[in-house]
Amino acid sequence: MLRYVTTNDGKVREAREYLGDGVEQLDFDYTEVQADDLGPIAAHGAREAYRHAGEPVLVDDAGLFIDGFDGFPGPYSAFVEDTLGVGAVQRLAARELDDERRAAFDCTLAYCDGDEFDATPDPVDRDDRVAAAATGAERDEQEGRALPVKLFTGTVRGRIVEPRGDGGFGYDPIFEHDGRTFAEMNAEEKNAVSHRGRALEKFAEWFQERSD
Ligand code: IMP
Repeated sequence: MLRYVTTNDGKVREAREYLGDGVEQLDFDYTEVQADDLGPIAAHGAREAYRHAGEPVLVDDAGLFIDGFDGFPGPYSAFVEDTLGVGAVQRLAARELDDERRAAFDCTLAYCDGDEFDATPDPVDRDDRVAAAATGAERDEQEGRALPVKLFTGTVRGRIVEPRGDGGFGYDPIFEHDGRTFAEMNAEEKNAVSHRGRALEKFAEWFQERSD
């Protein structure tokens, strides 16, 4: 059974559309290491979750990257939502930036099942040395190597607008894509264009082949 590692029910609802009932939520709060990119954060989380669960895991790490703020809040999006709040991010963007408040939403899915991966265009993260040393985490006993983690990414462009819509979660009400905010779309419509939908589509296809 594949475990979708997140404390966020909204992410799981969106993931089920691609992964069906063969996926179960693992409500595990992995350590978020500090990094500029989502990849190393998600990969570290996947290793930690796999060691915890002992079963195949998929970690979902996402972030809102606002162009005019050099990508901020990016990897700090969850912290900023919890501290400042989504409304404050929107007001800050409205006050500080021009009319065009462009942004991207990125999602990285990190998969770990303890085994190696055949080569495909999607990258494999193997370098967890610093984080492993810092946390005292075990390395693979056989070869003293970090557990390999396969990464799948998705991104969507949009802009920051005044909050609209009741659906979704997190930054959805202030992220507009093609004239509608994500909170104005249902899960299916959001998945068809979203960062998570794009990453999930790649993962689901790859995972199907790995499971065959
Ligand atoms: P994390 O991936 O759970 O660390 O989420 C980072 C931040 O982005 C949190 O504040 C989430 O609420 C928010 N977030 C993640 N995915 C989405 C999304 O699809 N729409 C809106 N906000 C999101």
